[in-house]
Order: sequence, then C-alpha cells, then structure tokens
Amino acid sequence: MRQNLPEYNHIPFVHYLHCRRCRTRVATIQDYFPALQILGSVPAGFFTTVFSVEVAEDERYHRGIDDMTLAETYCVQCRNLVGWKIIAISQPSRSHIVGGFIMRLNEIICWNNVLLLDLLFGGNNEQAPNDQDGGADEEQDNDQNGGANVLVPNE
Ligand SMILES: [Zn+2]
Repeated sequence: MRQNLPEYNHIPFVHYLHCRRCRTRVATIQDYFPALQILGSVPAGFFTTVFSVEVAEDERYHRGIDDMTLAETYCVQCRNLVGWKIIAISQPSRSHIVGGFIMRLNEIICWNNVLLLDLLFGGNNEQAPNDQDGGADEEQDNDQNGGANVLVPNE
C-alpha cells in the first residue's frame, strides 16, 4: 500500500536549455539560480549542475575572477564556450559553490527557441534607457496619427 504519495502527482515539467550553436541539451532551468551576474562583460548565471559539457583541465584555461577560480566549459558536441565551472572559491554562498557552473546566458537557448538571456531579462542586451519593470510600451492601440484626445466637452 503506497498510495499516499500525493507529491508524485506534480513532478515539474523539465525545461531543457540548449547550446545555442548545436542545440545539444546542456542544462535545465530548474538548476538555474535566479541572479544575473556579469563576468567581464558577459551576462552569466549560476547553475548547480549542467551536462553534456567538457571542462578544461589545463590550467591555461583557468582564470581567476573575483574570489573564484573558473575553468572554461565547452559544449561537448560543438566545443562552444558555454560557461565556466567553479573549481575554487574563497567565499562560497548559496549562489556560488565549488562544482557549480556559471553559464553564459547569451550562449544558451531555451526550449522555446528564445535566448536564455532574453527569456530572463527581456532582451535588453546593451542599452535599456527606461528600465522600469512592468512592460510600459505594451499597449499602443490608439496610435493612429492624429486626434487622440477628443474628449473635451463643449461648453
Ligand atoms: Zn554545442
């Protein structure tokens, strides 16, 4: 009698993330820690785990950034540099642990063919002048030229 396991009824649907170049599955969105970070000038994000990647063992492909040592991590299929593995860190945190990965958000494409960077941050790649969250310019229905405000009552 193992009927009382209601948890099993909603195992979350797995959303796969793919290498932008060859579409190999390299991660799932469930393993993403929701925080944007900039490595150099590269938008990146932390993943607790990824797969189908190859981590550079040669120290020439390791680099120190902030308090971390990172090893270049490639798509195993096409050798695209998709991110870095954290191989040492002086101050681990919830979003940074040894063995985790910092992935390039603009080299990963989502299940729906949207760049992960765009999915997460709305595609404001370089310049986002007015950055208030909440979609300001979504409704531009009444945009025909001329004569919008004709609601002035005659006196
Ligand atoms: Zn690839």
